[in-house]
Amino acid sequence: MKIMSINAGSSSLKFSLFEMDTKEVLVSGLFERIGIEGSFYTIKYQDYKLKEEAPLNDHADAVKILLDKLIELQIISSLEEIDGIGHRIVHGGSEYTKSVMVTNKVAEDILKLSDLAPLHNPAHYLGIKAFQEVLPKTPMVVVFDTAFHQTMDKENYLYAVPYEWYEKYKVRKYGFHGTSHRYITKKISEELGRDDLKIISCHLGNGGSVTAIKDGKCVNTSMGFTPLAGIMMGTRTGDVDCSIVPYVMEKEGKSAGEILSDFNKKSGLLGISQLSSDSRDIEDGVKSGNEQCILAQEMFVRSVVKYIAQYYVELGGADVICFTAGIGENSIDTRRMIVEKLSVLGIKLDLEANNVRGKLTKISAKDSSCLLYIVPTNEELMIALDTLEIINR
Ligand code: ADP
Repeated sequence: MKIMSINAGSSSLKFSLFEMDTKEVLVSGLFERIGIEGSFYTIKYQDYKLKEEAPLNDHADAVKILLDKLIELQIISSLEEIDGIGHRIVHGGSEYTKSVMVTNKVAEDILKLSDLAPLHNPAHYLGIKAFQEVLPKTPMVVVFDTAFHQTMDKENYLYAVPYEWYEKYKVRKYGFHGTSHRYITKKISEELGRDDLKIISCHLGNGGSVTAIKDGKCVNTSMGFTPLAGIMMGTRTGDVDCSIVPYVMEKEGKSAGEILSDFNKKSGLLGISQLSSDSRDIEDGVKSGNEQCILAQEMFVRSVVKYIAQYYVELGGADVICFTAGIGENSIDTRRMIVEKLSVLGIKLDLEANNVRGKLTKISAKDSSCLLYIVPTNEELMIALDTLEIINR
């Protein structure tokens, strides 16, 4: 069976087509600058990579080209070969605790939740509509980033703000990257042959979050009402005292929206290093003795350690700490620096085993009190697996 996994952004559409028997990616690609001048797309299949310019007025244009190309490149011989489509959805509110089949109500609910994810949910809705237009009979499933975190206790998901804000406006912690944390949970449980694990999953990419998992369920997570909260990120602050908002508004004559935009786009590694949001550039800067880069790297590491330590206590210890996403999978130095700061808990790294990038690897020392693993994430595959399971039901 063939399943397509879709991630529609406001001006982009990312896709992967999986052969589910082998879990192999048959083709993947990205449409960019949808609705903006200079739109183009890239498609990768087998050893080929193709990049073409094309006018893309809306998501429907991208979907039409995508499907035509799949046939033209002989990846499929007819559209009926696509058995299902899974869409990544950033926000499912409190209502959606699992992936579900798309119905008109589900699509409308996703649009209604735009209030909570204004950059993402409207784009996801457009993506769903575009596929419905061209493939009206193909079953579609939606997979929510927030769903995995819906098992948190109220004590963990509420903010200590007037309770009626939660009742009236749904102000609470939702958590994000749930599809990745769920994939990590599944993968490490398979690897260790156990479901009853206490896991601390560190998704460290451009955006990052740390999640505490017990017996396959999320207990707590570092992101909050929005993906701004938690650990320091590429361009995002992570946790910050919100009194800074009115203070800097007055000093700089900015609006609340502008400050929030600075928190999201000009902060984190970029804000501190004054150089780059990319951890590779920060690491180069550290090597050449750039003090702002040294500071940024150390602040990043401490912010991750703070959450691991909190969740270690909250879970009553941990069986395994997993590192994933761009930095977690690839940055040998960041992993080493994080684990060094956990030595008080008896957690120890095998330095040689840690000298690896992007591969499922056990990196803890033999005498470490808890296992350490690199687990490459695969949100696209998780979306495809959910889609397959739901359409087969
Ligand atoms: P997102 O999906 O959130 O955009 P990714 O998971 O792709 O982000 O992670 C991007 C981050 O991973 C960047 O900071 C990048 O520098 C980092 N990264 C990728 N490869 C390496 C590497 N070899 N060494 C260090 N950091 C890396």
